[in-house]
This record gives sequence, C-alpha cells and structure tokens, in this order.
Amino acid sequence: MSIEVKNITKLYKDQKALNDVSFKVNSAEIVGFLGPNGAGKSTMMKILTTFIEASDGDASVNGFDVNSEKKNVQSSVGYLPEHNPLYTELFVREYLSFNANVYGTPKSRIEEVIELTGLTPEAHKKIGQLSKGYRQRVGLANALLHNPDVLILDEPTTGLDPNQLVEIRNLIRTIGKEKTVFLSTHIMQEVEAMCDRVIIINKGEVVADKYLKDLREGQDQVVVVEFDYRVEDAFLLKLPQVASVKNPSGFVYEITFSTTTDMRSHVFDFAHDNDLKILQLNQKNTSLESLFRELTS
Ligand code: ADP
Ligand code: MG
Repeated sequence: MSIEVKNITKLYKDQKALNDVSFKVNSAEIVGFLGPNGAGKSTMMKILTTFIEASDGDASVNGFDVNSEKKNVQSSVGYLPEHNPLYTELFVREYLSFNANVYGTPKSRIEEVIELTGLTPEAHKKIGQLSKGYRQRVGLANALLHNPDVLILDEPTTGLDPNQLVEIRNLIRTIGKEKTVFLSTHIMQEVEAMCDRVIIINKGEVVADKYLKDLREGQDQVVVVEFDYRVEDAFLLKLPQVASVKNPSGFVYEITFSTTTDMRSHVFDFAHDNDLKILQLNQKNTSLESLFRELTS
C-alpha cells in the first residue's frame, strides 16, 4: 500500500477542512483527487507530505506514519506544491543542485531528472526565463530528485496553456508507469486524461472512489471532436457504430458510438479522408461528468 488514510479530520480553528476522510492508494496507480476549490485537497496533501499535522486520524505513506516517521515519509514522497515556490533568479541546474545537496542526492541524478522531465533544451536558462509549462517541469524534476516511490502533485496542470497541458499530462502518465502518483485537480477532464482511479472530495468529505474503467463500463462512448470547418451531422453519421451526433457549439461535435472500443482513430481517419483539420479530439466520460456534478453541486 502506498498511501493509507484512516479517519483523518483537520480543523483550522473551528472550521473543518477534512472530516473523517479514509482512502487507500495502491502502488503504481495514478489516482486523481478531484474536488471543487476549497474541498480540502491541498490540506490532505500537506498532511501526507508532513507539512501540517491532522487534528485526528492516521495516515501513512509507503508504510511510514506521517506523525511518528516524518523523515521516512519525506524520503518516500516527491511533492509538487500547489503554488510551487521557485527561485526565479537561479539557473535550472543551480536550483536542482541546491536541492540535491539538501536531500543528499548524488549530482548524477540531476542530469537524470532533467532528461526524464524533458527539461534538456531549457536547462541552461534561469528559472525566471522559463514558460509556466517548463517551470512546472522544474517542479516535477525537483520532486523526482531523491527518486521517491510516491509522487504527490497538487494541481500540477493548473494555469498551463493547451500545448503545455498535453505535454505535462503525458509526462505524468509516463512517470506513473513506475511510481505511485496522487494528484489533485478541480478539473474533471484532467482525471479523465491521466488517472486510473478517481477519489472525489467535497466539503472535506470523500464522496466517491471509483476506477475509471468501471465508470466507463456499459456506457456509450462519446467522442468530442472539433474541426476547423462545419460538417453536416448526416456526414458524421456515416462513421461506423455511430448512435447520434450533437453539435453543441461552433465546429465542435459530440459523437456517440454504441461501442466501448476507442473510436478516436476512426474519427481521425475520417477527418484526414475529408480534408478536415482536427483542433481537438477527446473521449468524454459521461458517467464521471454526471457523478461529479451530482456529488459536488
Ligand atoms: P482545496 O485545495 O481543495 O482548494 P484547501 O485544502 O486549500 O482546499 O482548503 C480547504 C478549506 O480549508 C478551505 O475552506 C480553506 O479556506 C481552508 N483553509 C485552508 N488552509 C487554511 C489555513 N491555513 N487556515 C485556515 N483555513 C484554511
Ligand atoms: Mg488546493
């Protein structure tokens, strides 16, 4: 078990930020901690990374208790805080080597994490000169320095532009093949794009804990596609196994397929064959969407 949370409650003065929260995260899973702003996500993450203590309950990371085995917890987790404080005047390597010294990590690891997070082309720059996406990579590289088994990422994709978003999501998915990743977000699509499982939190309480594959089960598949030009619905209905087509806005189409097989490549081929350019192409988890709305509204 990578993360185990048992009946955690956290009070800030008399305000309950977390109320009797329990969940477990298995090794090598990517779990999304999804909830609206103020739900208690950052509070939970600060407890798991030993930055603050819970008012009640127990939690462990990698088998180490967050209260009595703080040092072991810290060496087991890499943490990307929500407002990651980076020293804009430092060069990327300078910053990482400063932290490597703090952790007692060998210098050779610095080049490894630079490579791993795709920082190589920007690694000679000052942090202040980097785009938000690359700064986020520096944060991730820093979290990975001591090669922890568990990564706790607080809203890792917030504030990124669409291209950076795709790159950071891919990076997190790659990291998640080897490590346990527990990431928070208030955006449902982020869970859909990166996670195996979702834990939904609302007003300090866990209200759902589901594997995405179970949520998708028995559901029709909805593919959201945006073309650069108008397409007649009738035309899209020629795609294999189409059940219906909706055009919610502009050149965006929601195509429902009566199959669970991923149909995005068919849509892609269709666009290619008809000289259309695709501006976005996603699967939409209708059950995750309705679950999230229902539980947090
Ligand atoms: P989230 O990360 O899901 O947006 P937070 O864990 O940051 O939520 O906050 C949960 C609740 O606790 C919010 O109502 C917030 O205002 C409150 N809170 C967070 N940190 C503090 C603090 N240091 N002092 C008092 N209240 C806080
Ligand atoms: Mg937060």
